[in-house]
Amino acid sequence: MTKYIFVTGGVTSSLGKGIISASLAKLLQARGYRVTIQKFDPYINIDPGTLNPYEHGECYVTEDGAETDLDLGHYERFLNVPTSQANNITTGRIYQNVINKEREGAYLGKTVQVVPHITDEIKRNMKILGESGKYDIVITELGGTVGDIESLPYVEAVRQLRWELGTNNSLVIHLTLVPYLAAAGELKTKPTQHSVKLLLEYGVQPDILVCRTEHHLSADIRRKVALFCNVDNNAVIESIDASTIYDVPLLMRKENLDGIALKKLKLSAKGEPDLESWKDFLGRLKNPTAEVKIGLVGKYVELPDAYKSINESFIHAGARNECKVRVKCIHSESITSENVADKLKGLDGVLVAPGFGSRGIEGKIEAIKYIREHQIPFFGICLGMQCAVIEFGRNVLGLKDAHSTEMNPDTKNPVISMMEEQKKIKNKGGTMRLGAYTCELKKGTKAASIYGKTKITERHRHRYEFNNTFLSKYEKAGMIASGINPENNLVEIVELKDHPFFVAGQFHPELKSTVANPHPLFVNFVAAALAHSHKK
Ligand code: GLN
Repeated sequence: MTKYIFVTGGVTSSLGKGIISASLAKLLQARGYRVTIQKFDPYINIDPGTLNPYEHGECYVTEDGAETDLDLGHYERFLNVPTSQANNITTGRIYQNVINKEREGAYLGKTVQVVPHITDEIKRNMKILGESGKYDIVITELGGTVGDIESLPYVEAVRQLRWELGTNNSLVIHLTLVPYLAAAGELKTKPTQHSVKLLLEYGVQPDILVCRTEHHLSADIRRKVALFCNVDNNAVIESIDASTIYDVPLLMRKENLDGIALKKLKLSAKGEPDLESWKDFLGRLKNPTAEVKIGLVGKYVELPDAYKSINESFIHAGARNECKVRVKCIHSESITSENVADKLKGLDGVLVAPGFGSRGIEGKIEAIKYIREHQIPFFGICLGMQCAVIEFGRNVLGLKDAHSTEMNPDTKNPVISMMEEQKKIKNKGGTMRLGAYTCELKKGTKAASIYGKTKITERHRHRYEFNNTFLSKYEKAGMIASGINPENNLVEIVELKDHPFFVAGQFHPELKSTVANPHPLFVNFVAAALAHSHKK
């Protein structure tokens, strides 16, 4: 029978529930358990796909094309197992399902209410992955903070589910904050006590408390928290600030979070967890033998979460190359033809980021022109690839008004244009070309040598594409399509022949990079940047 672990958050948001969930999952996986993590988000959007990255950080896309919360990225990066639509559910989706059922007559004669109809639908979704038979343990992270109005039905669903599942089949981990008051020189437990009281008021007794803290928790503090929150002494877990999120599984191991969880679930420890490859990764990450500086040109650079997966991919690729990757964020709106040399000075490589809309486009194009002409390694992702195509069209092919029809619908040279299947779509949510598609790499190209094979799949999230009517012109002039979708001929990768590293993809490789499997495009891009830095 599948066992369920629920992770709730108290006191404040941003305590890192996603990282704690992923770390615990990693430890359980390292002991031989099949584990997955799902997240329930209390907002009313059906998914985060329509949210501005400033609101919600990056939108993470799964193999099956779900637009999801960025925590799913952490789950995949830690576990190296793909997630799916079932791993991220919002209040919007729960209500949509219930309302659809109501219209179909599923509740005929009944008043449809939060309890039991919404809570039943939440419970049904909480059990879907468990019932698939694919997992021994399902970790469910509840978004938001206990006490929020919108989280209430979820906490109630957890209360009911625990009762239904029976003793020893589920447990609740509550993540709280133990703040340090500098003036008093003390750690304070009261916020944690209050947060647990609130949870108790809703009928949920946490089994384990994970306390985020900037200072070590003394035995006294742990005892005090345990006493006032009705948990075992050893179930008060310290989660101290770490220098990298990838340290957290080892910190949780030290605190025996996994051992305590297994004991409470009456599961065998199966010996010690096998963390050899994880430790090897950390060793490489922390002992780099070289350093490269890479520019990330984008328009959401004020918010690091907007490019979460890209930044994490650089960490994986850096570790693989035993090289520290310093990412310098450059606001695309700030780049002009006059200052581009200065803005990109000292960089060993430049990545032009994905994005939507025309803000910052000309800066991205200026940056690419400079990189192309100065033989600096370039990596373009999605909109970054489209900008590379536009730049090449304007400055090499002489198509002065080359553009994407997303930015200029009237251009005479629409080198990037809307995909045919997109033209009839009216609704915004979940309607882009989403999820994994196959791509065939041309033999002898840089892309084929990087991947070491000719058939790949990568994840997409876009409406516009390379306009194939221009392809032969581009290829004659040296920009070749090295990756093509075999079903509909869409150009998925372009590269330049006469350049040390100029590769751009219409897909999002950053979504598939994990600790165990750093993405080859990132690994090779960092290696090219390293070679460039040696040349300098
Ligand atoms: N805006 C572009 C499109 O829709 C690129 C999208 C992206 O970068 N994810 O095709």
